[in-house]
Amino acid sequence: MGWVTDFAPREDELSSCIQCGLCLPVCPTFRLTGLETASPRGRLTAMAAVASGLPVDDRFEEIMGLCLQCRACEVVCPSFVPFGRAMEGARTEIAAQRKGLLRWLRRLTTARLLGNRMAVGWVTRAAAVAQRTPLHRLAPKGIRRSMAGMRSLRGRPDLIVGNRYPARQEKRGVAALLSGCVMDAWFGNVHVATVDLLTSIGWEVVSPPDQTCCGALAAHDGWAEETKQMAAKNVEAFRQADLVVVDSAGCGAHLKEYHHWADGGGELADKVVDVTEVVAEAISAGHLPRLEPNGEPVAIQDPCHLRHVQRITDQPRMILEAAGKTVVEIDPNGQCCGAAGIYSLLEQEMSGRLGSIKADQIKNTGAQLVASANPGCEMQLRTSLIESGHSARVAHPVEIYQEALQQAELSQGS
Ligand code: SF4
Ligand code: SF4
Repeated sequence: MGWVTDFAPREDELSSCIQCGLCLPVCPTFRLTGLETASPRGRLTAMAAVASGLPVDDRFEEIMGLCLQCRACEVVCPSFVPFGRAMEGARTEIAAQRKGLLRWLRRLTTARLLGNRMAVGWVTRAAAVAQRTPLHRLAPKGIRRSMAGMRSLRGRPDLIVGNRYPARQEKRGVAALLSGCVMDAWFGNVHVATVDLLTSIGWEVVSPPDQTCCGALAAHDGWAEETKQMAAKNVEAFRQADLVVVDSAGCGAHLKEYHHWADGGGELADKVVDVTEVVAEAISAGHLPRLEPNGEPVAIQDPCHLRHVQRITDQPRMILEAAGKTVVEIDPNGQCCGAAGIYSLLEQEMSGRLGSIKADQIKNTGAQLVASANPGCEMQLRTSLIESGHSARVAHPVEIYQEALQQAELSQGS
């Protein structure tokens, strides 16, 4: 039957694969299974088979579903195959051609509820109650696992969306901060650190009230129309900003590719920076301090969408060193931790295996502090560490830096 949408993998994308196999050793699912169908090359071959007329059937869905969309394959590909784009196209076809209750629920969650602040607010309140009571034991295993990785929702800071924070130095311009679907409600302290650091170097920070979810999870799950609608809304919401700052690596990666998704999306994409880029630049320029080393080890995890998509690796390390920490590498290949949006719910076995590898790597360092610049990875790492009997704290690099600055100020004052 072949493809039925305009968003399907394109002929030029599929034919650019020269079948060299250089991507196989870096693909987490190939490494763990050894199966060609769990490799980038195998997945592209399956897409080409559907393009030539084979149906989008159970097997095709299974082959595409096991992909983490980590995009490690893109980094090593000598033929520059745009694998992430092709996979989003394949997922869009699956979403268009395959029906059922689970798929309806996936659409409701990733394409509707995440973009609805009131719905996220209700889920957050329910999660806060479940955290304090045995209620969470009633949830299905995948949800229970995710909940174990959440930060405590008790005493979380106020939401930043709709707020404006004046620059505390001579004003450089207006930086708009993406509030994110769950960043604001579940990871508020990361926003607090981001706002504090940006205003201290002269940015006026606004979090536009009419913004919505970036749409990354909807795009990864194949809901192209809703992804376009979210992108169009954000293009308008962020139009006036000089800079668009994102403190969630997965969201930043998606915003930097908005040219695929909305008219004017390229203009927004050009203004997007990950918070680690801004903070590292300010440290380099001497606008933010470097603290004396204190020798505390911090194990660093590279979120795939920071490392493979945004190609950012030096900045988080530099920020942690400026916080006085000793950065400990856990994995030179930066293999995916298995979080991958809703993957940890849909592909629990593979996600659990990848999480456990990462937890063992962290455990081997002996570090009690872990830095991760992406909320999904943070939750997966925390869950995997708990499961492996290790109790290290996981936090965002800018949060670790801002806390270190505050502690240094306190000890100077005492
Ligand atoms: S590295 Fe690129 S060209 Fe080579 S098999 Fe993988 S996707 Fe195809
Ligand atoms: S995106 Fe990641 S999991 Fe998917 S084929 Fe590429 S390397 Fe493998």
